[in-house]
Amino acid sequence: MKTCPKCNAVNKDSQRLCVNCDSYLGNVASEYDDDYAEKVIMRSNRKSKTRSIITTVLFLLFYCSFLVFTMILSYDIFGGLERYFRYSLLYIPCLILFLFPYNKVYCWYRKKKKKDESYLADSFIAIFKAVAWIYLICLYVGTFQMMNVEL
Ligand SMILES: [Zn+2]
Repeated sequence: MKTCPKCNAVNKDSQRLCVNCDSYLGNVASEYDDDYAEKVIMRSNRKSKTRSIITTVLFLLFYCSFLVFTMILSYDIFGGLERYFRYSLLYIPCLILFLFPYNKVYCWYRKKKKKDESYLADSFIAIFKAVAWIYLICLYVGTFQMMNVEL
């Protein structure tokens, strides 16, 4: 990369003019900044980690409040929890779908097959999480229908 002598903006090696101030960079020597690349990667990693923590907490919050709420409702309506526990078996796959360590299992599988290390695309995992959310919403609707509660 090249650092602009005028404004200190960081430019790609292929850049002939500074992205920031348009000054000529032809005579600026390019340098490879390990530190900079690492910082960018770290920042993006941290961002995606934070996002993943937030969505996980949000999901668990919805999930747990749903469990507690339906438990209370079930107790109120049926005077017991047998039906609730029978129905709650359906909640487990939903949680697994969301919390399953897709990347870890994928890496483990690749290692076992002696293939190169690689990771699943974020969008791929996002699909599974979206399905888990839809599953949870269906559970909400299904439970209310089962209990004949008017929403
Ligand atoms: Zn510049």
